Amino acid sequence: MTIIIRVDPKKPSRERIRDAAKIIREGGLVAFPTETVYGLGADALNESAVRKIFEVKQRPMDDPIIVHISRDNTLQLLAAEVPEVTFKLVKKFWPGPLTLVLKKSKIVPAVVTAGLDTVAVRMPSNKIAHMLIEEADVPIAAPSANLFGKPSPTTAEHVRQDLYGKIDMIIDGGQTEIGVESTVLDLTVSPPMILRPGGVTHEELESILGEVKLHPSVRRRKKVLEVVKSPGMKYRHYSPKADVILVEGKSGEDIERKVAKLVDEYRREGKRVGLLNLVKEMKIEADVCIFLGNSPEEVARNLFSSLREMDEKKVDLIVVGGIEEKGLGLAIMNRLRKASVRIV
Ligand code: AMP
Ligand code: MG
Repeated sequence: MTIIIRVDPKKPSRERIRDAAKIIREGGLVAFPTETVYGLGADALNESAVRKIFEVKQRPMDDPIIVHISRDNTLQLLAAEVPEVTFKLVKKFWPGPLTLVLKKSKIVPAVVTAGLDTVAVRMPSNKIAHMLIEEADVPIAAPSANLFGKPSPTTAEHVRQDLYGKIDMIIDGGQTEIGVESTVLDLTVSPPMILRPGGVTHEELESILGEVKLHPSVRRRKKVLEVVKSPGMKYRHYSPKADVILVEGKSGEDIERKVAKLVDEYRREGKRVGLLNLVKEMKIEADVCIFLGNSPEEVARNLFSSLREMDEKKVDLIVVGGIEEKGLGLAIMNRLRKASVRIV
């Protein structure tokens, strides 16, 4: 049985959140909204509770999970070493969509970190998430609340589709604001390295830290086994049932020309083709067209739900033209590359 409760994200009811926190404390699983995507939470210090996350998501055991906290000083409890730069970043970006990778302390169970000697920690700004961690009074391990490999959930309905009946509770706090996951930043290397681009941009991090490297896999589609920093980086991700074809090019016009040609070819083959328009609405005829918004922020917010919507509309293929990898564009392109079966 999965209980679904509605909570106002602007003014969450503490009483309702207490019910959810009780489930966490008793070793259960609660899906909750964060500012990025919905998370599937368990008590991070309870090994068997965390194990259940992997089971219900069908997540490979070698893909580590981010630990969510509500107070700065919990970080000292989870991390064995906290380098000086951490405090700068915490001051500037927490609470918010930045996850920090640090050497782990003994208190963090191996199942959370997939046996790595590092732990990924973040403090979410969403009020429901914050209150849930506070009331549970334990750090909460939470990956995205979707079945492994599927697009991440940005509404409680997406969570329901993937996990109803398998988890104890879903807190419905409306659509998430940012829509793509947090930026994962490795602070155990110098200069720091982005393992996954997300809600906090590369540019913002460099303005605070100076040089920040991008892990080679950030811009790649295929798994790059020999260089994965975190085993989870090697799997296929964010994939709807329909095949995603990502079109890249030298300019907007170049991309639009290629998209038009591809859509036409696939439709001649009798395929039902979905066209995702990021930022700019192309004048191309397809079976289903979805426009994601005028800015990278709007595109990020609508990206995952548009992939799910394409599946509901039963398209065979989704063609999407790439955008510039500036600001949130880097995270958007990263997700599209990982979701795609082909890059043109
Ligand atoms: P998700 O399950 O969608 O929230 O993704 C969590 C991501 O955080 C994983 O794919 C990992 O790549 C990353 N992550 C979690 N823990 C660590 C860690 N200890 N070291 C490096 N990356 C991590
Ligand atoms: Mg995920």
